[in-house]
Amino acid sequence: GIPEVPAPPLAERRASRRIQVGPVAVGGGAPVSVQSMTTTRTSDVGATLQQIAELTASGCQIVRVACPTQDDADALPVIARKSQIPVIADIHFQPKYVFAAIEAGCAAVRVNPGNIKQFDDKVKEIAKAARDHGTPIRIGVNAGSLDRRLLQKYGRATPEALVESALWEASLFEEHGFRDIKISVKHNDPVVMINAYRLLAERCDYPLHLGVTEAGPAFQGTVKSAVAFGALLSRGIGDTIRVSLSAPPVEEVKVGIQILQSLGLRERRLEIVSCPSCGRAQVDVYKLADEVTAGLEGMEVPLRVAVMGCVVNGPGEAREADLGVASGNGKGQIFVKGEVVKTVPESKIVQTLIEEAMKIAEQMEKDGTAT
Ligand code: SF4
Repeated sequence: GIPEVPAPPLAERRASRRIQVGPVAVGGGAPVSVQSMTTTRTSDVGATLQQIAELTASGCQIVRVACPTQDDADALPVIARKSQIPVIADIHFQPKYVFAAIEAGCAAVRVNPGNIKQFDDKVKEIAKAARDHGTPIRIGVNAGSLDRRLLQKYGRATPEALVESALWEASLFEEHGFRDIKISVKHNDPVVMINAYRLLAERCDYPLHLGVTEAGPAFQGTVKSAVAFGALLSRGIGDTIRVSLSAPPVEEVKVGIQILQSLGLRERRLEIVSCPSCGRAQVDVYKLADEVTAGLEGMEVPLRVAVMGCVVNGPGEAREADLGVASGNGKGQIFVKGEVVKTVPESKIVQTLIEEAMKIAEQMEKDGTAT
């Protein structure tokens, strides 16, 4: 087989300060973390903890919960205590919930300055409470709720306006010696968003939380987020990410993880290298790729599996993968680490690939090559 040479990284990570969101480090070279947000009423503690458990199982590392009412604020202590991953309270409008969230033991608090009236007057107290509890603050600027002064100054939510808003709010905290901050400047247009983060990255050393806000339904949101995060992360910008989809939050996590794996920022787990199929295909590639993906879901070892429709690129790709199949003439040649180990009838391809994958996984675990 051809030895695997790890690809060089796309760019040096931007040097940023480090904050601790509970046990998860953000910034300062820490691995880029994936977060999501619950869709339950936070006051419904059972449903919220259930969704957090699902998110945790899917690989989510930090979870945010909305806190629009007193009932939600009252639920925070239990949720913060029982969640397996750090909980960030998301606060708009009411400063009193910021204090409640800090008292509740939340791992961080997100504030949206544009949505908090007289926010500036409250910063001193917030900074004090946050420092006393060691709670970092995310300044979460959002195009849809930009500070009115800046909206007037710039006419709309331009990258400059978003960045000015974020840095102004950060400076208010800095006046009180508080720098335990991460920042987001979200916009629904990836181009504006990318430019905003690039500007922000130059102007401060705070860790950055990436997000395309209101990115849309799953397909559109996935593409927008992948493009925007890719453009930034490939330049080393971004310390934690949240994919926003009009879809269940577990989907956001899957997309987020896949984006990081695609960029080489996280170890690739199961990777299916399947061809798009074409007029030469001698097998239903879509069906085969779907069946192999489903059969191998949840594999914990890094495994590259090639599913190829014919012999043009088939053997080549199949050889470079850990495992692969090249189809032709109603049969599948099964490759393991570059060697044809067997040829099976088409109806046995999926089953054989799964069996071989299990063997490789066992071997990797024995050799300690799996993480
Ligand atoms: Fe077409 Fe074969 Fe390439 Fe698949 S591997 S796209 S079937 S030429």
